[in-house]
Amino acid sequence: MPWSGCCEVCARWGPQRLCAECSARFAEPRPRCSRCAAALPTALPACADCLRLPPPFELCVCVADYAFPWDRLVARFKYAATPELAALLASALAAAAERTNTPLPQAFVALPLSAQRAAERGYDQAFELARRLGRLAKRPAHARALWRRFDATPQAGLSRAQRLRNLQGAFVVPARAQAAIRGRHLGLVDDVMTTGATAGEAARALLAAGAARVDLWVVARTATPADLP
Ligand SMILES: [Zn+2]
Ligand SMILES: [Zn+2]
Repeated sequence: MPWSGCCEVCARWGPQRLCAECSARFAEPRPRCSRCAAALPTALPACADCLRLPPPFELCVCVADYAFPWDRLVARFKYAATPELAALLASALAAAAERTNTPLPQAFVALPLSAQRAAERGYDQAFELARRLGRLAKRPAHARALWRRFDATPQAGLSRAQRLRNLQGAFVVPARAQAAIRGRHLGLVDDVMTTGATAGEAARALLAAGAARVDLWVVARTATPADLP
């Protein structure tokens, strides 16, 4: 059913949850690192971090920086389970991929929450995005291709090396999902990416299970790498 109501950002009445003016204004393309999507002052192929230590994922598609209005939209989506917001964010992500000529993966996989967090929240927002992206791109979205075995301890204040060590083994591809992963080019989907340490560890698990390539698809990227996963 098409949305009919007010734009989430400017509150103007219209046929879209985010009106055309707002999406043009707030999803304006800017120079980004081609590997991790960190915002760059000028067009460069990669940021200093990725040059020093390339992440396990091949590239990162993102809509915009994690700032107004995306921070608000993502927060509302995360805690309120609104299907219209999932559709809005997934189509903004599909549009960003088209704009940057990102090759479509063969399938989408969601970055999973831990079982405990999923139970608290009652739904999995990354899978909601992956499912809709799959529908838009006519690709499958796998619901249980990746398991999160544990949540790493809070990451603030730790060095990059300590953060990575804490995350080791956090994700695993269950045996029954391996046939769907092996040899495939995958799009790993999440709502927000901060340093990419968590997504990197998930990508590593998919590659270890035989994935040919993993790209990251996130709605928003924090502007400056924060001290969180
Ligand atoms: Zn608007
Ligand atoms: Zn980078």
